[in-house]
Amino acid sequence: YFVEGPVPANGEVQLSGDDARHITKVMRGAPGDRIIIVMEEKAYEAAVESVSPEVTAILQTEITAQVELPVKVTIACGLPKGDKLELITQKATELGMHALLPIEAERSIVKWDASKAEKKTGRLRKIAKEAAEQSHRTHVPHIHTPCSFQALLEHIPSFDAVIVAYEDEARSSDRTRFADTVKRLYDKDSILMVFGPEGGFSEAEVSRLRSAGALFTSLGPRILRAETAPLYALSAFSYEYE
Ligand code: SAM
Repeated sequence: YFVEGPVPANGEVQLSGDDARHITKVMRGAPGDRIIIVMEEKAYEAAVESVSPEVTAILQTEITAQVELPVKVTIACGLPKGDKLELITQKATELGMHALLPIEAERSIVKWDASKAEKKTGRLRKIAKEAAEQSHRTHVPHIHTPCSFQALLEHIPSFDAVIVAYEDEARSSDRTRFADTVKRLYDKDSILMVFGPEGGFSEAEVSRLRSAGALFTSLGPRILRAETAPLYALSAFSYEYE
């Protein structure tokens, strides 16, 4: 369970709302049960002390095993149709994504107005939190509200490297293997990986990303669906850095 810090000196932590309901109703929790609590990106074993009406637990030992990827991979993807972003959020969180930045790309078919963006982002944040709990992560990926392509370019300087998964690179006979790209990123702390929407990138977007210094890569010779491509990339990072 993710609980807001700071870590109390006496180790006594209160859980309320959905977390308390999950412990009492779904897990049928009782005093003495062990749970895992994450505060300030550190995981602790904790013992449930009381369950009614809120749950009180006492932090015990810190769990020092590292579950996060050593590189922080932010996924920027063109807004896809339907509920694909929900699938990307859930699965990419399981695979170690650091943050998600949806982009209103030129070929994104859907556009979100402000109220839809707020509602959808709230839902995606809930999905990310639940997936992070399920995967025993110590970091819940931050889900940004969708931004324009221009705003994406403005984010670039804050990353150590920017990689664009580009379909035309996949079609090229001398394509860069993604495995080689991943190996070259070993010493980086933060990476932005950019993916197009279903219709791919427009030529203008490609040239603006090139001018911004992004590195273009293939993800293998097969063209993947917009929701598969980020999951393939994160699986490769997980495989390489396990
Ligand atoms: N409509 C495009 C086409 O026919 O070439 C395909 C776009 S693909 C469905 C969506 C996005 O996934 C692409 O813009 C790219 O970022 C990524 N992608 C999919 N397969 C890829 C591959 N084999 N190599 C690199 N990127 C890929």
